[in-house]
Amino acid sequence: MDRKAELAANLVAVRERIDAACARARRTDSVTLIAVTKTYPASDIRLLAELGCTDIGENKDQEARGKHAELAGLGLTWHMIGQLQSNKAASVSRWADVVHSVDRDSLLAPLGKDPAGDSVTVLIQVNIDDVPIAGRGGAVPDAVPALVERILDADGLVLGGVMGIAPPGGDASAAFARLATAHDRVLALAPGARMRSAGMSEDLEEAIAHGATHVRVGGAILGKRTYLQ
Ligand SMILES: *Cc1c(COP(=O)(O)O)cnc(C)c1O
Repeated sequence: MDRKAELAANLVAVRERIDAACARARRTDSVTLIAVTKTYPASDIRLLAELGCTDIGENKDQEARGKHAELAGLGLTWHMIGQLQSNKAASVSRWADVVHSVDRDSLLAPLGKDPAGDSVTVLIQVNIDDVPIAGRGGAVPDAVPALVERILDADGLVLGGVMGIAPPGGDASAAFARLATAHDRVLALAPGARMRSAGMSEDLEEAIAHGATHVRVGGAILGKRTYLQ
């Protein structure tokens, strides 16, 4: 099978999983599928765009910057989903339309400084582990309301909502329930911040059951990543 046919078949299968999960949850709103293309070449992103998948997720600034430059003009929406170093934040704001991994104040000023003047949509990454472990990324739930206020006050940023990653091997449903609770607190302060980014190849059903508006799917579309990120 050629690569485009392979991607097309995988997209159909993932979209069927999403539709089935929405039906089970009696959801009539739509869920946006973000294809996570980290470690895969720009040529795959071009094929995905031809197949109607235009939301693209990347997790490394340098890798994404190159692909973004190569694929200008395709009308893609670029999502930064990886942990963000403060010294990379300004660079990320040049290619990313949505940054899912905002978990601390020090990222806000550099992210808001896109020289093109476009505002960047940011999601607060919430640590939804049972017991938060340092280094996993994400603001602890109690730190979220203060971060909301800072983002609402920041120049060049639009608060889009929240993002969470279920702990590997843990209880995904319980984790996504914690994300829903954190999101409710955000919505009380910022009613427009409706995006809830949750769910990957292995747990998108649980995420959709808990209100995910955006799922981030890599392996189930592109294939198993075979080299180190
Ligand atoms: C890699 C990655 C994904 C996609 O994971 P898959 O298991 O390949 O679907 C989603 N979200 C984040 C934050 C990632 O780093």
